[in-house]
Amino acid sequence: MGKYSVDGCFATRDVMARAIYTEILEGRGTADAGVYLDLGHIPADTLMERYRTLYDYLGGRRTIQVAPAAHFMMGGVSIDEKCRTSVPGLLAAGEVAGGIHGANRLAGNALTEAAVFGSIAGREAVRASRELGKIPVVQDTEEIRNITSVKYLFKTGAVSADELGRIRTGLQKTVEESMYVIRTLAGLEKAMADLDVYAEQLAAHPVVNYPEFLESSQLRLMLSTARIIIRSGLSRKESIGAHYCL
Ligand SMILES: Cc1cc2nc3c(=O)[nH]c(=O)nc-3n(C[C@H](O)[C@H](O)[C@H](O)COP(=O)(O)OP(=O)(O)OC[C@H]3O[C@@H](n4cnc5c(N)ncnc54)[C@H](O)[C@@H]3O)c2cc1C
Repeated sequence: MGKYSVDGCFATRDVMARAIYTEILEGRGTADAGVYLDLGHIPADTLMERYRTLYDYLGGRRTIQVAPAAHFMMGGVSIDEKCRTSVPGLLAAGEVAGGIHGANRLAGNALTEAAVFGSIAGREAVRASRELGKIPVVQDTEEIRNITSVKYLFKTGAVSADELGRIRTGLQKTVEESMYVIRTLAGLEKAMADLDVYAEQLAAHPVVNYPEFLESSQLRLMLSTARIIIRSGLSRKESIGAHYCL
């Protein structure tokens, strides 16, 4: 890590992820496309006490293969200081809310966030419900009508059992390739075009049973999320925090 940061092993996670990914990209990774994390300098007692699951998993070994993976959403629903969203009566707290950590969450802060903002949201929920005195009605939108509409349940036609699975795998691959640790403008633009194709394929797919209805509903949400992340990436003109774009 000394090669990548003056902070060495104490570098923030975005720096560390890019360092690992660069090592892998430049051919210095393991055969499984990872790198070795060396825990040899940590006394066994400390490891056992502080990272028990890892200690058990290692079974006496002191190295472990690692590679970067997504494990937190920095973006999310916009909230104000009382956890209120733009929908009256709808509050958001925790990982689903965006903006708390800026562009880069520091290690260990997510649970603190959940506790702090969960508490604020809870208090606000009590206050708001007393004030409202009734259950707020969520506004009916075209999208909600489409998701709940029975027409999806009664469509008939030729069904390819693998079609939804194929769209899901394609979408996951697109997201993995374009929004991984190091992004490129061309990659994000291509991903946006790919999403349009998946959306068309999804819209054309006749849903004939309940499992397919659930799967296609989830795919629509995954597509929306991917689109929002890519659009945000494209509108961000500089690399900052976890968004690193060449
Ligand atoms: C591998 C890993 C390690 C982590 N390590 C740490 C760490 O060491 N320290 C730290 O601070 N943070 C860590 N985090 C991050 C932290 O765990 C999460 O940010 C935090 O748990 C988010 O809590 P949450 O309550 O906001 O969301 P979640 O824990 O995701 O809770 C959301 C809940 O809503 C439910 N749900 C979803 N959709 C629906 C629906 N339609 N209807 C009803 N329920 C629904 C889900 O099932 C889930 O139970 C880690 C995350 C990962 C993935």
